[in-house]
Amino acid sequence: MAIKKPVRKIAPKTSVKKHSSKASATAKKPAKKAAKQPKGKKYVYIFGAKTEGNASMKNLLGGKGANLAEMCLLDVPVPAGFTVSTECCTDYYEGGCKLPAVLTSQVLSALSKTEAVMGMKYGDPENPLLVSCRSGARKSMPGMMDTVLNVGLSTATIPGMIRKTNNPRFVWDSYRRLVMMYADVVMEKAEGLEPAAGKGIRKLMDEVLDQFKHARGYKADTELTSEELQQLASEFKKLIRQHLGKDFPDDPMAQLWGGIAAVFKSWNGKKAVSYRRIEGIPDEWGTAVNVQAMVFGNMGDTSATGVAFTRDPATGDNKFYGEWLVNAQGEDVVAGIRTPSPINNDTKNEQNKHLHSMQEAMPETYKQLNGIRVKLEKHFTDMLDIEFTIQEGKLWMLQCRVGKRTGTAALNMAMDMLAEKLIDQKKAVMRVEPKQLDELLHPIIDPKTEKDVKPLVKGLPAGPGAASGELVFTAEDAVAAARAGKTCILLREETNPEDVEGMRAAVGILTARGGMTSHAALVARGWGKCCIVGAGGLHVDAANKTAKVAGSDIVLKAGDVVTLNGTKGHVYTGSLPMMDATENPRFQKFMAMADKFRTMGVRTNADTPADAKVARAFGAEGIGLFRTEHMFYGEGSDQALFLLRKMILSTTLDERCKALNELIVFVKRDIKATLEAMDGLPVTIRLLDPPLHEFVPQSAEKQAELAKALGIDAAGIKKRGEDLHENNPMMGHRGVRLGITYPEVTEMQVRAIFEAAAEIIQTGKKCKPEIMIPVTCDMNELKNQKVLIARMHDAVAKEKGLKQIPHMVGTMIEIPRACLLADKMALESEFFSFGTNDLTQMGFGFSRDDIGGFLQDYLDKKILAADPFQTIDQEGVGQLIRMAVQKGRSTREGLKVGICGEQGGDPASVKFCYKTGLTYVSCSPYRVPIARLAAAHAAIEG
Ligand code: ADP
Ligand code: MG
Ligand code: MG
Repeated sequence: MAIKKPVRKIAPKTSVKKHSSKASATAKKPAKKAAKQPKGKKYVYIFGAKTEGNASMKNLLGGKGANLAEMCLLDVPVPAGFTVSTECCTDYYEGGCKLPAVLTSQVLSALSKTEAVMGMKYGDPENPLLVSCRSGARKSMPGMMDTVLNVGLSTATIPGMIRKTNNPRFVWDSYRRLVMMYADVVMEKAEGLEPAAGKGIRKLMDEVLDQFKHARGYKADTELTSEELQQLASEFKKLIRQHLGKDFPDDPMAQLWGGIAAVFKSWNGKKAVSYRRIEGIPDEWGTAVNVQAMVFGNMGDTSATGVAFTRDPATGDNKFYGEWLVNAQGEDVVAGIRTPSPINNDTKNEQNKHLHSMQEAMPETYKQLNGIRVKLEKHFTDMLDIEFTIQEGKLWMLQCRVGKRTGTAALNMAMDMLAEKLIDQKKAVMRVEPKQLDELLHPIIDPKTEKDVKPLVKGLPAGPGAASGELVFTAEDAVAAARAGKTCILLREETNPEDVEGMRAAVGILTARGGMTSHAALVARGWGKCCIVGAGGLHVDAANKTAKVAGSDIVLKAGDVVTLNGTKGHVYTGSLPMMDATENPRFQKFMAMADKFRTMGVRTNADTPADAKVARAFGAEGIGLFRTEHMFYGEGSDQALFLLRKMILSTTLDERCKALNELIVFVKRDIKATLEAMDGLPVTIRLLDPPLHEFVPQSAEKQAELAKALGIDAAGIKKRGEDLHENNPMMGHRGVRLGITYPEVTEMQVRAIFEAAAEIIQTGKKCKPEIMIPVTCDMNELKNQKVLIARMHDAVAKEKGLKQIPHMVGTMIEIPRACLLADKMALESEFFSFGTNDLTQMGFGFSRDDIGGFLQDYLDKKILAADPFQTIDQEGVGQLIRMAVQKGRSTREGLKVGICGEQGGDPASVKFCYKTGLTYVSCSPYRVPIARLAAAHAAIEG
């Protein structure tokens, strides 16, 4: 049995109140009813002939409800109905999972209005109205919550419905759907029952349905006859009694209330909760319930249902893009049960070009739909995702919302809509999320290689870019692979909301079934993740974790490596070489436009001239952090590292100076090349920062080599290395502390900087070195080092025959004490740069290197909302930053302040930096465009 979820917190009432008071003012107009209404909160808002809500009421009515109301106001055909507010959901949880008493009369009164508009009566044996119970939170949560269709069909209403439609097959098809959905959503999931995998009521019913079809040699559901559907429904009801120990309710009213409560309960369903965690949606928002008159896409060949985007969500092209199914209902299109057809000829693809488009099959209705598309886009001034149903030739709109899109599409649509004068520049800039730029700069398969290899199978291009990794067949395996540091591709027959965490963990998603609006496609696109759907050539055997490739004897197994091209829909075996997507000229234009609004600077953290060049191409306005120690790592660092080790293991001043004299050549070379690459832009050079023991040679061979160079024996080297051992090196002899003990180490570095700068200046070029002293906690440390720096400056200037070498001296602020004493620190430094990695480490007392052991628990148990090493902890560490800025500027007006931690490229942190008044943020080269856009957004938002 499932554990009961605890009662949720109360929703923040402020925004809700504003809405409800506004809305109830309108509700008072029809005076005759208002007087009769019982006292209490207004929970129910009608739409249809008369409409009480509008698009701005998303917090109260949910996205779906607010936009259904807005469409009604625009005279778009929408089946009438009413919305039970999110506030009611919150009150439901607050009241211990009980519907508020006043809801009864409000719902009944709204229902009678819906009946009047539709000319039918709920539960009436002659002319029954059927409804759907649809969930709808503030933010769309695709497929995460449940909808029940055809509510109101019962022993009492079925005969009337058959007489009325003269279509028994349709009625029994609707009924068996109701029984299936109701059992699954209301009687099982909403009750918190969690049957073992494959034992869920829905699954059991699907099996019965499959057997039924199989026994009769049917392929599609549409082949089932009226009698067979009726028989199926009674089989289903037997299953319900057997497995859930209750009867399917035969009373329309019981069905309606069950449906409403189930939607509220689904807010705390497992998949909804897990989606909220990933998307950062607060638990206390709640969902609304939309009760809406049913219209039927399953009444025969002149009926249909479909989903569309007003523009192509993958590319942004201004093409109406969608899928539809004749004689189908509800989620058939999204569920991947049948391959949906394209709505128009423009957007046919390899997989569906043989199918009839709506444009061909129902040209008039298509024209009407296209008219609505234009009307809605103009009104909402954005690309929309719409759901529609055609009942015997009549078109009905069932949903519209701002559509999810890839980064590429977001950028293209922003630029197009700007050109179409649908939106202004500010809006265009705001239309692209900083994070989405990541996708634009995503790797692609090297085209030179790709043209020579044949795809293993093809599917639909649902998510952009390329991805390569080991195949996994279940969401759990994907999560496990990601935890083990592996990149994996999740291969599923089709995905469903239970797979979300695995989809997140995989670098790419591949499905054998489903269209461009399938669950996998929708979710992947929202995340900008590489994804291919509907690769029909794959026959997935999930139980054995294999997939057979049709027309060959290839069988893919778990662990096999494949590469996906999500932009084309091609799947390749093996791992193909990747490269960065070539720069889009529209991207440059877009970024230039964003920069017009941006006021805060964006620099980069770059340690090599090569990185510096990349970052400049991405628009970096300087280097916020150049780490000198980088030259001792990696390729080509052998000799410099050898000399550094010599210096570290020197025991006398003389030895050390000799080593430093050799080392300076390397240090100067890298600094000079980087200053040159930045061509006059500021470069913040941090003096040697890490604890020295990191560089002590560990291998016997390297120790012997070093011993020889220093003229001592290997044992002596070992001893000297051991002497450097520290218990807590992170807080040990590092940063400025080295410079205090060994002034010659600072002197060497500063000399390298001044010589490099002087030589550049002498060739007539400009450079702006900024010397940054790390790990400081007291102004006297700065005073001490500044004496050395000044002395070295004067010496080099004299040697080079220059009056002075332009430069600045500042410090990194990364120890809480430095924040507390920032006013004093500022007296001795011309700039601050927040080292938020260490500041977070020391602010929390969390070791950066060991946080992996407990961070996940902190996140799972909601002790922390996010990893503070990825996004600034604004509440705590943020306070230190705010205080340091304020104090620093109190003694040095206009003090230049930047940030150079990892968080400098995180959009939320960038916004925080803007609000705190920082001069610039600095981040890794590939995140520079993200930071630029985030800073522009911050400036626009104010
Ligand atoms: P989701 O939030 O998952 O999109 P919806 O509430 O939109 O769920 O319901 C899913 C589908 O059910 C809709 O796309 C539509 O096809 C169908 N549906 C919902 N309500 C009605 C209705 N009143 N009449 C006909 N079809 C409906
Ligand atoms: Mg749904
Ligand atoms: Mg929907």
